[in-house]
Amino acid sequence: MSRSSLSVSTLGTPRIGPRRELKSALESYWSGQSGADDLIASAAALRAANWARQHALGVTTIPSNDFSLYDHVLDTSVMVGAIPAAYGWTGGPVPLDTYFAMARGSQGAANVEAHDASCTCKSHQGAGVPAQEMTKWFDTNYHYMVPEFTAGQRFTLASTKPLDEYLEAKALGFDTRPVLLGPVSYLKLGKSQDASLDPLLLLPSLLPVYVEMLRRLAANGAEWVQIDEPCLVLDLDEKTRQALRVAYGMFAYALPKLKLMLATYFGALGDNLDTAIELPVAGLHLDLVRAPEQLDAVLDKAPRGLVLSLGVIDGRNIWRANLATLLDRLEPVVARRGSDHIQIAASCSLLHVPIDLELETGLDDELKNWLAFAVQKMDELATLGRALAGGRQSVTQKIVASVLAASTRATSPRVHDAAVADRTKAVTVEQTRRISPFATRSEVQRKILNLPAFPTTTIGSFPQTVDVRKARAAHAKGTLAPVAYEAFLRRETEAAIRWQEEIGLDVLVHGEFERNDMVQYFGEQLAGFAFTKSGWVQSYGSRYVRPPILFGDVSRPKPMTVDWWAYAQSITTKPMKGMLTGPVTILNWSFVRDDVSRSVACRQIALAIRDEVQDLEKAGAQMIQIDEAALREGLPLRRGEWGHYLDWAVESFRLCASGVADRTQVHTHMCYSEFNDIIDAIAAMDADVISIETSRSKMELLDAFVSDSYPNDIGPGVYDIHSPRVPAVAEMTELLDRASERLQAGQIWVNPDCGLKTRKWEEVRPALVNMVAAAHQLRSRF
Ligand code: GLN
Ligand code: ZN
Repeated sequence: MSRSSLSVSTLGTPRIGPRRELKSALESYWSGQSGADDLIASAAALRAANWARQHALGVTTIPSNDFSLYDHVLDTSVMVGAIPAAYGWTGGPVPLDTYFAMARGSQGAANVEAHDASCTCKSHQGAGVPAQEMTKWFDTNYHYMVPEFTAGQRFTLASTKPLDEYLEAKALGFDTRPVLLGPVSYLKLGKSQDASLDPLLLLPSLLPVYVEMLRRLAANGAEWVQIDEPCLVLDLDEKTRQALRVAYGMFAYALPKLKLMLATYFGALGDNLDTAIELPVAGLHLDLVRAPEQLDAVLDKAPRGLVLSLGVIDGRNIWRANLATLLDRLEPVVARRGSDHIQIAASCSLLHVPIDLELETGLDDELKNWLAFAVQKMDELATLGRALAGGRQSVTQKIVASVLAASTRATSPRVHDAAVADRTKAVTVEQTRRISPFATRSEVQRKILNLPAFPTTTIGSFPQTVDVRKARAAHAKGTLAPVAYEAFLRRETEAAIRWQEEIGLDVLVHGEFERNDMVQYFGEQLAGFAFTKSGWVQSYGSRYVRPPILFGDVSRPKPMTVDWWAYAQSITTKPMKGMLTGPVTILNWSFVRDDVSRSVACRQIALAIRDEVQDLEKAGAQMIQIDEAALREGLPLRRGEWGHYLDWAVESFRLCASGVADRTQVHTHMCYSEFNDIIDAIAAMDADVISIETSRSKMELLDAFVSDSYPNDIGPGVYDIHSPRVPAVAEMTELLDRASERLQAGQIWVNPDCGLKTRKWEEVRPALVNMVAAAHQLRSRF
């Protein structure tokens, strides 16, 4: 019997609901407005809708257990009973509130707003039992809760969520393929409290829990289980490869009939290919968007019986596929291996893209025609499946439409700006170099600026109060007139400046009250970017972001920040920093075009920011800060690719920062400061001053900057802005003393760890007064 479709799968779907239903349900539960039953019912409704939607669109292999109330890594910790003692669980079903205590700390949320995409701060967590640590899921902007293991760690099947959701789907008529996070990736994502304990050593005690879960799934009718081992795209040591062999050997032995689809994504298998191919699993999923070149090697090596899941629809980006081009590649593969041994899939879970393009009312039709969100990607998958099973003629219209969309995008003047392309190509080495080396520049700057030792400053933003957010929302809605909004912002700015003068800060900032988000603010003023109204993507828990869409060549129609800077500088005699977001950060926090390389896109943004830097200088700015908060997080997953990334990232920064005279002081800011392994690149950026986050590490993170390896000025953060706590003067002088042990006194600036937008004025005021006092004490000593 000929089938009408090849097997097609999403690997996973967004959980949040088309209208952010999950966020509303969670926040209503957390605030006590609704009970657990309501939350459970909302979650079940979202899952049911997800299954039904996929089925209706023609997805044939529908996942279950891809849903999560907060995070799937946390779900896995709960499933295997890896619940640290502090959360007070003693066995039995894990209560909802234990789960949320692990996610957010035990005392509720105070401050979930006003964080940008960079913010993984814990200020949304309560004071009782702290939440588990949170960190980035591979190279995405999704954050997972880091599993925590102890030396005597025991595992037990503490939650049957995968089975429950499988049965829930079955009751609704959907025979799904449950998804589990694989045991080896799970352990590798975790941390042990005792640093000498390698989490991988826990594998033998973890595996029986997985076997039990798989056994129950099989016993209840699951034919296939998708088991995600994204660690297979990382640099792996032999120990980890051996762990994979042990785990999958054990599964095959214990459950010889259950078919496992081993899913790898976010990169190429590379040197782990042989390991992956040899594991005794029924299927292997490949990310052919990130690593299309690996298909040939896999086809050569894969045993005949192995089902290959070809991830050809981009799960990480929002571009519509050219179905004809994909079919050209896929048809020979299907012919070679047989349609029973090929599945078509998204490259990774669709968790990382917005849900439905149809909800977008703010985008014009032409641009919309080039995009595909999760729902549209499901349709693309189904179309590919039908074309591969029944011939292209069965879906001619869809294929033609996709080809037309691709061709208008390829030639549209909105995407291609010859002037930008020419300028990008013509960049010279001279444009990426300041006129004189740092030693010369710093002399010039010292004379003009005449700053005291240990100069004090802040990172840019001041509290985004309820009033500020209300005014912005009213302005956006049209209920607050532009003139009135502008006047309001000026008052806020002036008040912030007066206050900075009053407490004696040396270098001032205007406070960023006019900015919604450090990337969006610039994207909205640059040609080549578009913004969605409903394109939400989960960043962590109930925190969602709407990444800008970089669709075309980037240029700057007019100055973006000069007026605000000029106003701010006009009302003070103290130096006012110009405040910009750097090209690498703008790139790393956007959906980026797939028709030019990231390095070219970045260079274009750099040229636009360079224009702004030069205009600020022309307007009289003596200091310009260019934030590169996301530089480090853009590092590729494989070490071998770091060098290339850092080369173009650093070049982009230098390109945007170097078009100014020696006298102009360029600052940069980075949030995290684990810089040991990339310190040469940080030094190569050649900013006159860099501010970094160091207070929580007690300045240990400064070790990278020690001695001659980093000659430029450094502002190691002395005030942890992630906490409402007000640091005492003595704490900050102690941190500055530690910094002075590592750096030359003349190199050191005094500033907080990051911007203050998420804090309250009641916290910021005393903290900065103390910070200024700490700087005075240091001055009297040196
Ligand atoms: N200038 C920005 C601010 O102060 C920097 C934010 C960041 O590094 N995430 O808000
Ligand atoms: Zn920061």
